[in-house]
Amino acid sequence: MAQGRVAIVTGGTRGIGQAISIMLRDAGYNVAATYHGNEEAARAFGKDTGIPCYKFDVSDFSQCESAVATIIEDLGPVDILVNNAGITRDSTLHKMNPYDWKAVIETDLGSCFNMCRVVIESMREREFGRIVNIGSINGQAGQYGQVNYAAAKSGIHGFTKALAQEGASKGVTVNAIAPGYVDTDMVRSVPEPVLQKIISRIPVGRLGKAEDIARGVLFMVADEAGFLTGSTLSINGGQHMY
Ligand code: NDP
Repeated sequence: MAQGRVAIVTGGTRGIGQAISIMLRDAGYNVAATYHGNEEAARAFGKDTGIPCYKFDVSDFSQCESAVATIIEDLGPVDILVNNAGITRDSTLHKMNPYDWKAVIETDLGSCFNMCRVVIESMREREFGRIVNIGSINGQAGQYGQVNYAAAKSGIHGFTKALAQEGASKGVTVNAIAPGYVDTDMVRSVPEPVLQKIISRIPVGRLGKAEDIARGVLFMVADEAGFLTGSTLSINGGQHMY
């Protein structure tokens, strides 16, 4: 029963989030896509899809509180939350500055607390909720030059299992997806020789498509998926079998 269900997709206007927003909309969900700074992408996305877009910083609790209140006013209570927004600020630890550490922890992991915290009470009261957190293969396996990102993404997997235990008796499921390397702006910023090396290590022989990840989200948020909770689905072309 997708019809009438309200879904928030953070970072839902670009990359993986864009594919998730569109796939959920096409399945009949009432989607709100959020973004942070890329107005041009958000405007084009909103125009092409008709999906309403909301601008705020997921790393800031009070912005999450007021933006979610606006979304509820516009669309109704939130049934589904996809915590997808994320950033990288790569460098080896001995060169990493504290700002890049904090920015990644607060954007990629802190956002899961912020967004879950503002929707969870209503989900528990209504005895229905679907939360999907987007982790990463690099949170499972670690990655050179990414202690901040690997720590944040690894944290997401623990967060997911703990919150799944809290929500289980209230109809609130909490799952994670750990994507491998997916063809988005985030990965296109990797230098070409490094990218070729990465692709050579992916058994299926290609980068993932954003839709490969969105399909997993669609499966997890279904009304019928009530027995699936606390799990992490790896979608990585066979690169890391965890
Ligand atoms: P993109 O860089 O293409 O898009 C990131 C999205 O997150 C954008 O919509 C961006 O908004 C939003 N965002 C970033 N920071 C904030 C913030 N502070 N507040 C609100 N929104 C914010 O990323 P991808 O699509 O590649 O990645 C999506 C998720 O998947 C991320 O969590 C990433 O870590 C994860 N992932 C990606 C992989 C990949 O290979 N691409 C692999 C494994 C995991 P705006 O458009 O305004 O900038």
